[in-house]
Amino acid sequence: MKPTDLHRFLDDLRGMSADECLEVKTVLRLREGQVESSLVMREAEKAIKACPHCGCSSVAKAGSKDGRQRFKCKSKDCSKSFKH
Ligand SMILES: [Zn+2]
Repeated sequence: MKPTDLHRFLDDLRGMSADECLEVKTVLRLREGQVESSLVMREAEKAIKACPHCGCSSVAKAGSKDGRQRFKCKSKDCSKSFKH
């Protein structure tokens, strides 16, 4: 959604009837769960971008163990592996 569309939508919301508000609320409640899980994923993605040992941001996926993704630091001085 474009920012201008969003503002128009928010303006429309202010003029909505109670029934329409309830409908929007239902949709929002459904979306809330989806948004939350995608935010959690985004945080997890952000977290894997840095090595916890040296803070180097170049890490590579290195298989998985116990169902968790393993990563390996690509820094020459560190090259430790870690999991998240
Ligand atoms: Zn490192």
